[in-house]
Amino acid sequence: MATYQGRCFCGAVEFNVSGEPAAMGYCHCESCRTWSAGPVNAFTLWKPEALKITKGSTNVGKYNKTPRSGRQWCKTCGGHLFTEHPQWNLVDVYAAVIPTFPYKAGVHVNYQETRLPMKDGLPKMKDLPAEMGGSGVVLAE
Ligand SMILES: [Zn+2]
Ligand SMILES: [Zn+2]
Repeated sequence: MATYQGRCFCGAVEFNVSGEPAAMGYCHCESCRTWSAGPVNAFTLWKPEALKITKGSTNVGKYNKTPRSGRQWCKTCGGHLFTEHPQWNLVDVYAAVIPTFPYKAGVHVNYQETRLPMKDGLPKMKDLPAEMGGSGVVLAE
């Protein structure tokens, strides 16, 4: 099983993920944009047991704006790391913090909220796939 090393911006927190993610893509929602201060969040969703924090676990902060998203970061550098999604039993490990992982987006989600339209040919979900509690509606590029 493949294992990919990750770390925060300063290196106080180190972790790895093993196996294959359940999904990969870009989230355009307002929560991701305002928390990350970026126009889009590149996500990789894993089963929680695929993620192991190997250094600095007590240095990880967590904020739940809603019960659906536990956003986590390094308390030293402020670098963003993960978002827990307990209702899906998945954790988002930001693609940016696992540089050796062969990230390949498969879908755009919450595209109705986009501030950075991307004409890349991938499906553009209005909100979320139906199996994840969304409408399942796909928008035109
Ligand atoms: Zn850090
Ligand atoms: Zn989002």
